Amino acid sequence: MPVGVTRLKTLYGLAKKRGSVHRYTWIRWAVGIAFTAGVALLPLTGVLRIDLWSGEHLWLGEEVGLIEAIKAFAFPFLAINIAIIVASRFIGRYLCGFVCPIGALNRLDEWFAWRWRKGRRRWLAHAIVFVACALLAAVAFSFWSDWRVFAKGSPAAVTVAGVGLGGTTLVLFGTVRGLGMRFCRDYCPSGVYFAVLGPTSMTTVEFAHPEECTDCGACEKSCPVDLTPRELAEEGERPGMGFYPANLSDYALCLRCGDCVAACEDSTPGPTPLRLGFKRAPAEEPAKSEGVER
Ligand code: SF4
Ligand code: SF4
Repeated sequence: MPVGVTRLKTLYGLAKKRGSVHRYTWIRWAVGIAFTAGVALLPLTGVLRIDLWSGEHLWLGEEVGLIEAIKAFAFPFLAINIAIIVASRFIGRYLCGFVCPIGALNRLDEWFAWRWRKGRRRWLAHAIVFVACALLAAVAFSFWSDWRVFAKGSPAAVTVAGVGLGGTTLVLFGTVRGLGMRFCRDYCPSGVYFAVLGPTSMTTVEFAHPEECTDCGACEKSCPVDLTPRELAEEGERPGMGFYPANLSDYALCLRCGDCVAACEDSTPGPTPLRLGFKRAPAEEPAKSEGVER
């Protein structure tokens, strides 16, 4: 089972040997932080908030009624979902691999589980992950209440707000600590939605240089969703797991996270057998003869 100890040993063991942060990790954190910060700014700058405490609902900086605020919420929500459908169709589940904040939390937890797996620092690692979960819960909270509820609200309002904020933090922390990347593999409702919507896309993991493959198996061991990256382009099917039905293709399930490619890069000195990106145009006709493939 790749998710868990085997995945940690493979992916982070190889990364330790490499001695530097992989470019996919930089990209993932840059995109993830920019996306989460952008979402967090919406309620904080008054672009959109449905304030269940004060009733001062906001849309584009103006105070509006509840119905208007719900409509204002619904249309961007619809637009975002259409954008996701289009994105999933064309670029696959890059959202899962490079944008999703829950996925980022799972990876943060994994990284600490590997780096600080012994001694007292283990508790510091838990504390850091907990704070990250609390920050994400705070972003969600900002959409539904003004933070002044904690200073000016009635005892009942403060209690409800505290339970909402604390409960969201605990659910996130419990999910990250209890399931980690298993959440992405088995239970993420958004992941099911993306996989169902995007059965094909213009991107994939390609076995671009099979002649360089050492058959080390690092790619399979590092895949968080139990796929066989070397066979991804062949569009096999993985058995159903958790909330994911059985009839989804491997191609649709791939998170486009690049972990297999990173592991492969660290396992092979020459051209990397695997590559992640837009499918290359078939070059069979001129490249059939031996030695032509790059
Ligand atoms: S096949 Fe590779 S890119 Fe796809 S989910 Fe597995 S590790 Fe990530
Ligand atoms: S990690 Fe790369 S070299 Fe190792 S089995 Fe997978 S494709 Fe081959």
